Amino acid sequence: MLTESIEHVKSVLNQPQDIVIITHRNPDGDALGSSLGFSHFLQKSLHKVSVILPSEYPKSFSFLPQVELCQVYDLDSERALESIKNATVICCLDFNGLDRIDKMGHAVQESNAYKILIDHHLDPEPFADYQLSETSASSTCELVFKFIDLLGQRQKIDLDIATCLFVGLITDTGSFKYATNTYTYQVASELKAIGVDDYRLQDRIFNRYSERQMRLLGHCLYNRLEILDEYGAGIITLTKQDYEDYNIGRGDTEGIVNYILMLDGISVAAFITEQPTIVKVSLRSKGDFSVQEIARNHFNGGGHKNASGGSAYATLDAVVNRFKEVLPRYIEKQLA
Ligand code: 5GP
Ligand code: MN
Repeated sequence: MLTESIEHVKSVLNQPQDIVIITHRNPDGDALGSSLGFSHFLQKSLHKVSVILPSEYPKSFSFLPQVELCQVYDLDSERALESIKNATVICCLDFNGLDRIDKMGHAVQESNAYKILIDHHLDPEPFADYQLSETSASSTCELVFKFIDLLGQRQKIDLDIATCLFVGLITDTGSFKYATNTYTYQVASELKAIGVDDYRLQDRIFNRYSERQMRLLGHCLYNRLEILDEYGAGIITLTKQDYEDYNIGRGDTEGIVNYILMLDGISVAAFITEQPTIVKVSLRSKGDFSVQEIARNHFNGGGHKNASGGSAYATLDAVVNRFKEVLPRYIEKQLA
């Protein structure tokens, strides 16, 4: 499907609309920052706006303005589906396939609302009327800034919007360590000029480990890290028992996978965790090696070249073995 022009989007947003913003399950800083930043912007343009999250958000993001107003599909699916049904505009942020939003995907598909997709993942599904999909963007927050700019409404970006957008920039780039481009820094600079307290945000987001989380990190690195020297890869696994022993909650394991890439000579990292019904796989890489194909072909997932995820209905051991079995093929293929 051809995506419509920005002029058409402008004409749609020139009238007050009933807008629903949806982001992906297990929302991270970019999902929340882009959805809330965009919501604040649309509210300033006098639209009625609801943000719907498929599942709850980590408490570490409870400082984000209006995050407490988000609807959570897992907690009240009827209300979420009703909101989608009544929407005249649906915005899908930080995901690009309707299977990423569970049952809401059907409701979005069925809806006659005008659909806008703003996202930076690979392989977008063509379901939106207007799509701003750029895989070279650091984050969806960067693209929300660009979208507002394309609408010619940059002057509407206030401190709340800027703060939300800055959060996605720093969480999706590991504080500007990866996935950046020149525009990322321009956006960061603009947001800081608006008044974002970047130091406070970095501290608020990254220096908030509880003792339990810090010890869990220690456990992962000391007891659960396996290094595959031959393939320049490392794997950390967590069992259901670990989840009980360390009382692991939402967001507690965020970022652990990145520690593996701090090892000299390691450029592929896998963090594989046993969840109640599935096994979740988080993959990261450095440089040209793409983990997206592995996530897509073997773990029913996807994402970016250097950061992807997926899951499998199998035992933890089976998933670890599958990863170890397929990895050499991709290394041979991609580095040939
Ligand atoms: P994480 O490893 O932090 O869960 O996710 C890394 C990246 O992969 C994120 O951009 C996320 O959106 C994507 N991702 C994670 N899990 C899945 C999945 O199950 N399916 C798809 N398509 N993408 C995923
Ligand atoms: Mn993102």
